[in-house]
Amino acid sequence: MPELPEITSRTLEMRAAMIGKTIASIEVLQPKCLNIPAGDFRAALTGARFLDVTNRGKWIFVETTQGWLLLNLGMGGEILLVTRDSLPEKRRLIFDFEDDTCLAVNFWWFGYAHYVPDDELSKHKMSAKLGPNALDLDATDLHAIIQGRRERVKSFLLNQERIAGIGNAYVHDILFLARLHPLRTLDTLSLKEVGGLADAIHAGLQPSLDKGGAFYEVNLYGQPGGFTKDEIIIGYREGEPCPQCGIIIQKIKTGSTSSFICPNCQKIA
Ligand SMILES: [Zn+2]
Repeated sequence: MPELPEITSRTLEMRAAMIGKTIASIEVLQPKCLNIPAGDFRAALTGARFLDVTNRGKWIFVETTQGWLLLNLGMGGEILLVTRDSLPEKRRLIFDFEDDTCLAVNFWWFGYAHYVPDDELSKHKMSAKLGPNALDLDATDLHAIIQGRRERVKSFLLNQERIAGIGNAYVHDILFLARLHPLRTLDTLSLKEVGGLADAIHAGLQPSLDKGGAFYEVNLYGQPGGFTKDEIIIGYREGEPCPQCGIIIQKIKTGSTSSFICPNCQKIA
């Protein structure tokens, strides 16, 4: 599933290559991913010029001269800048631009392409409640968000309304880097641990962002991300030794999900 490093990478690639492009036509092959009828979607965005591309968590926001195009890849997918001659086999949506390039969007499972009028972005329910991007937070911001909360630290990190962009791929290493057990509750964290968690969020996400995201997602040009399996520290490595202390990494049940921890470096109390 794409998380902040992958989605931010796609955003930066789109911003570098697509600002100024004007949509000439739109082909909708999967109308279920839209928030309005396909005909309305096409009418709203045909003729729109791309002004900027940003992201909040897993949502990509394309600001156009005719309102917003919002993209969410869900469990994964591709956003490819191609031409009609090089269209990928799998695509749910195609945006044709006046310069004869096109943006082909595919979702592996399910994703969203929503149109939102200029002044209605705050009314877009699926994105309006998102917390700040994980990489934009410093220790002071994180402390302010955590203040007064008692939930478990892993659930907190995965809750997109608190912090946007962290999912199951990166959360294990973030908790390990912070030396926190996933079941610790926020009210038990010391100020020093909150500071350590803020540093760990950056240390857990930035290396992948610097390499264009993880190897299992492709960029705007179809190339896989440069962050490889070998660079994952303890996530999905049960049975291997902890790189810090040598104790065997365990896969444990934490609520409805699994977590990968070093039982020595990440103690519950
Ligand atoms: Zn360890």
